Amino acid sequence: MPDSSISRFFEKSRKERLDIVASFASLSDEELDILQSDKGGISFDKADKMVENAIGTFSLPLGIATNFKINGKDYIIPMVIEEPSVIAAASKGAKTARIKGGFEVTADESYSIGQIQVLDVGTSAIQQINNSSNEILQLANSKSNTLSKMGKGAKEISCKEIDTPSGKMLIVELLIDVGDAMGANITNTMCEAISPLIEKITDGRTLLRILSNYSTRRIVKAKAVFEKEAVGGEKVVDNIILAFEFADNDVYRAVTHNKGIMNGTISVANATGQDSRAIEAAANAYAAKSGKYRSLSKWSKDDDGNLVGTLEIPLSVGIVGGIANVHPVAKVCTKILGVSSAQELACVMTATGLAQNYSAIRALATEGIQKGHMRLHARNLAAAAGAIPEQIDEIVQKMIEEKKISLDRAKELLEQI
Ligand code: NAD
Repeated sequence: MPDSSISRFFEKSRKERLDIVASFASLSDEELDILQSDKGGISFDKADKMVENAIGTFSLPLGIATNFKINGKDYIIPMVIEEPSVIAAASKGAKTARIKGGFEVTADESYSIGQIQVLDVGTSAIQQINNSSNEILQLANSKSNTLSKMGKGAKEISCKEIDTPSGKMLIVELLIDVGDAMGANITNTMCEAISPLIEKITDGRTLLRILSNYSTRRIVKAKAVFEKEAVGGEKVVDNIILAFEFADNDVYRAVTHNKGIMNGTISVANATGQDSRAIEAAANAYAAKSGKYRSLSKWSKDDDGNLVGTLEIPLSVGIVGGIANVHPVAKVCTKILGVSSAQELACVMTATGLAQNYSAIRALATEGIQKGHMRLHARNLAAAAGAIPEQIDEIVQKMIEEKKISLDRAKELLEQI
């Protein structure tokens, strides 16, 4: 099994990095070419078919996070993000988590929830729907041969009443096992298909028929233990827990804390062609499930004083459907991950969110995040000045000590070496 703890990956050339990734994931020459071409993956023709009024395409950096071990398996993780430090932070978090075995993650099966709003119904509507649930499910399942053949598809129907300023409304919810897809389109198709039957059964009027992005039947739970010494000792562990308590009890901090988690999770979503808006909307609603917006992760310590992090989020993702099969870079990124199911992808995305969260709050609870950012910036400047990998550390160190971080200074220091 390949090992994802690749030493000093950040110091390697692009070619060396690509060779490592290609060998780790057994990429073909064609797949390697897709990564090497700087065209961002899709042609204008493809873009023009994907959205309306297209005028071009838009590229973002694609990087690799190293060191991940998730449920005993090593992963290198493609991340698409414009923000510096995120990929380094995820790799660093994964490196520390690895000491104690990495991340343990479980994911629910992929059940989507479709909603049908039913108006003007009598008092026995819920009973009538329950009595006809088999007929309704059968009709829903007739809309997907693929899911039916796999033994998946619509499984349950449930009803709830909500109070609104316009009076009570009946909401019928369809629970669908969507397999390895996000399942948005099949959910909408099934909801639309069964609504005439629901009108007939209830003698009511259906209005909205649509997927709920609050995917509470696709919950992913990740846990990692971060060894006390590697975290920086007892005081740092305690400070990280205090930092978590700040986030868990103050919405202004919680939003930023959860945004840090999304830095990790959404970067993988971008790389693999997921609907990031759906993921973020669901995660934010889940953060407020107690009635108060709180931290999505929890931090505590075990009996030995090691730091323990957990993260629980709803995640609606797919390895088929959407652009996962259309965007060539997304396809290669999914291959790099080596995931064979939507659930496995969800596990990886959640572990990345937790790793990212660890590094962010560790930095905040110790040196602050600007130092790391400036070091990275200094590193980029040293490289831009023409320093070779063996010279970079020395130049970076000097610029930081002098508090003079600029391209000119990097060039001067390079001349002195
Ligand atoms: P999709 O429409 O491409 O459907 C997935 C297809 O994969 C289905 O036809 C299914 O039959 C097939 N399939 C093959 N193997 C499968 C397997 N093992 N498991 C499951 N299906 C399998 O994709 P989708 O997932 O329905 O929709 C995703 C797209 O829909 C995203 O681009 C998303 O942005 C968009 N969308 C989102 C919303 C929303 O979030 N509210 C609403 C509408 C559309």
